[in-house]
Amino acid sequence: MSLGLIPQEVITQIRERADIVDVVSNYVSLSKAGQNLKGLCPFHSEKTPSFNVSPARQIFHCFGCGTGGNVITFLMKMEGASFPDTVRELGRRIGIAVPADSGAVTTSDSRARERLEHINGQAASWFRANLRASEHGSRARRYLADRGIDDSTIEAFGLGVALPSWDGLIQALTRDGISLADMAAAGLVAAKDQARRAPDAGGYYGRFRGRVMFPITDLRKRVVAFGGRILGEGEPKYLNSPETALFSKGRVLYALDRAREAVGRDGRLIIVEGYFDAIALHQAGMTNVVATLGTALTSDHLAIIRRFTNKVVLLFDPDAAGVRASLRSLDLFVDSGVGVTVISLPEGQDPDTFVRCHGSESFKRLHDQAPSLVEFAVEHSLRGGTSRSIEDRIRSVDEILRILQKTSHRIEKEEYMRVVAERLGISQQRLIERYAEVSPKRPPATRQPANRGESPEGRPPAMPEEWDLAYLLIQGQVSGAQVAALRSDCFSDAACRRIVEIALRHVDRDGRVMLRALLDEGLADAECHMAVTELSMSERHFDDPAAYIDGCLEALERKRRDRMLSELIRRLRAAEQEGRVEDARVLNAEVNALRVTKAGSIPVRSS
Ligand SMILES: [Zn+2]
Repeated sequence: MSLGLIPQEVITQIRERADIVDVVSNYVSLSKAGQNLKGLCPFHSEKTPSFNVSPARQIFHCFGCGTGGNVITFLMKMEGASFPDTVRELGRRIGIAVPADSGAVTTSDSRARERLEHINGQAASWFRANLRASEHGSRARRYLADRGIDDSTIEAFGLGVALPSWDGLIQALTRDGISLADMAAAGLVAAKDQARRAPDAGGYYGRFRGRVMFPITDLRKRVVAFGGRILGEGEPKYLNSPETALFSKGRVLYALDRAREAVGRDGRLIIVEGYFDAIALHQAGMTNVVATLGTALTSDHLAIIRRFTNKVVLLFDPDAAGVRASLRSLDLFVDSGVGVTVISLPEGQDPDTFVRCHGSESFKRLHDQAPSLVEFAVEHSLRGGTSRSIEDRIRSVDEILRILQKTSHRIEKEEYMRVVAERLGISQQRLIERYAEVSPKRPPATRQPANRGESPEGRPPAMPEEWDLAYLLIQGQVSGAQVAALRSDCFSDAACRRIVEIALRHVDRDGRVMLRALLDEGLADAECHMAVTELSMSERHFDDPAAYIDGCLEALERKRRDRMLSELIRRLRAAEQEGRVEDARVLNAEVNALRVTKAGSIPVRSS
């Protein structure tokens, strides 16, 4: 991690002024739990909150996946941004200016990302300018008007048009001093030999030609890719940017940057399948809408969604493909803790046409009456069945039963079974028998108890004194005299040893560890940052911490001497075997000396 050229005092000032609770709340809904706040972890999938934020210490830690850190690390992980970018962005939010030229030393990775963002930004302006000015632009403007998209929406979503020429964009970007290789890296041009009929364009040709262009922005509102809808007839109807360093279509939800605020207010996120559907709903005042980019929902999408809400509304086409899509997403959502309802529009209508014909009020009514995803999936599986026998009807929902048995949530499972039984018109008992049949047989040996003798935080109990001492250090319970007796080389666990090393560098005049400095340095340290946040958030009780610490120190010292002794003995044996008489004599004396002190007491005692 490069610190760039941002002065350390500016970083400290920003970190101290930014409240981690405010920042995290933009991504995770938090509720009070004792001195801390708790929520569902945005970095792993879970149903019960193990993600903790400490307002007092200004750090976060997840007991589920071990992720932790301060406000800057949180934002870096969340936005996938570099350290200097994150500091600058955070500074902007809270009104602390970071000198413009600072942070110029970034990793080559983030420089490459910035370059691609710049190229995409230039391309987006060119597409927009075409829409306003060119002859081809007037055709696109007519097309957009026919689809009911008004000028302010065109402006807001930055829509544009790619001219039909093979090299128009190449010429425009070349004038901006952008190389063909960079254009190719941004996915805007393709090498000619891949094209079947590309006229000469310097070895490359523009990927998007004769299309209405939708810039795809990330949460920071930077253009990461484009989607293009062909003007008139032609294939493919929709074309997206290829995967680039900035863009992976399975990880992006179109318009999420514009929807996130409304999702925060409304609590629900509506997911549609196309650019026009999303834009039409936004234009109609429903701004909690995003679109997938022609892919099924992925677990990466789910991870993003969970940062903002646990209530999702899906809009499917009521055709066979729509039902298959609903089954696939049932599989994805079933054990995710995200509640999903489904809006299906009348045959032959999409959100775009529906809102235009019936208005947004009718859409909101559909929204409020939407069945759960399970109900929707069952309904549609049954509709496909031709036979009337109950067994056949159950068989048609076997696929759903197979998915439902993945949920580890008992109440949810029972609720789903009730829905399925009701819809089939059979008893739950009957269904449960069937359910047992479709469940894969699992050997009992693979079912392990959740707790395998580990501490509640999943820490192996191998070095209890080391972890307890590190915990008490971070909790500020170790006295000056005890700190003076700490030796980092007594610690065999790398993370604990590093915490002690850092603590010993930050001792005040009374010999006590300065906690803020320990936390700051510990959080920035690759070796121990996870342990630091975990130990900060843990709550453990010791009847007499001072006496316990003395006990731990003694135990560690004993272990250190044991280790030294066995090492000396090992070397002594080797020396004897190899006939190094003088070495053996010296080593033998050292072994005896150590044996004597080992028998005695350890001179360190706190008052
Ligand atoms: Zn986690």
